[in-house]
Amino acid sequence: MTLALTDVRLTYPDGDRRLVALDAVNLRVTGGELVAVTGPSGSGKSSLLAVAGALTRPESGTVRIADTDVTALDQKGRDRLRRERIGFVFQQANLLASLTALDQLLLVAHLSGASRRSAEARARGLLDRVGLGGKADKRPHQLSGGERQRVGIVRALMGNPALLLVDEPTSALDHERGEAVVTLLRDITHEQPLATVMVTHDLQYLHLADRTVAMRDGRVCPPAEFSPRSPAAVRGH
Ligand code: ADP
Ligand code: MG
Repeated sequence: MTLALTDVRLTYPDGDRRLVALDAVNLRVTGGELVAVTGPSGSGKSSLLAVAGALTRPESGTVRIADTDVTALDQKGRDRLRRERIGFVFQQANLLASLTALDQLLLVAHLSGASRRSAEARARGLLDRVGLGGKADKRPHQLSGGERQRVGIVRALMGNPALLLVDEPTSALDHERGEAVVTLLRDITHEQPLATVMVTHDLQYLHLADRTVAMRDGRVCPPAEFSPRSPAAVRGH
């Protein structure tokens, strides 16, 4: 499975002008590859995920997920593609306060119409995979920040996606837990395999990614302008 963005442009209305959020963006991510996208706030990282995840249609350019031209789909087709092929993980795990870890996962399966028995087996297997087998009946307030984020990650995997889109997964975590979450994302990406795009402005985890691209002003910087260890990168630009 490959995600391919070609010459993608996205603008937002901004008074009587348009703000360019993505400008001539090209990105290819293949199955089994964790690509980190870094760059300062406002550089277009979340916009890139929204376009890659069929949440927002670009003004021009194409987005392909495997053999599907996402930009050619109607709303219904995009909804279906998201449900069947794409998992999302956000900054906060956004768990429902009243549900146990197991039920957070079963809720997604229920929404997609899977049978309870097969969904529960899958959910328990995924919780085991991330070391939370013993915490399946815990509610969010009984879990640490890192554990909640792990529930968020396996919830995104319930639908067996081919593409995983992750936005700032470590921003609510301390270094040790942040590193554990990114390591987990990398290992799962390799094992499934998934094509994973992880947005982060946290440069300390970039060494865990298979590849890093940097964004600036809506553009993906050419590799020559960015090296994770260059002084500019360390300052977060
Ligand atoms: P990042 O995730 O790197 O912080 P974003 O993709 O959120 O950047 O934003 C890129 C640019 O687009 C910013 O200038 C931001 O203010 C603008 N932007 C993002 N979302 C919207 C929106 N829904 N409407 C208008 N402008 C937006
Ligand atoms: Mg963002």
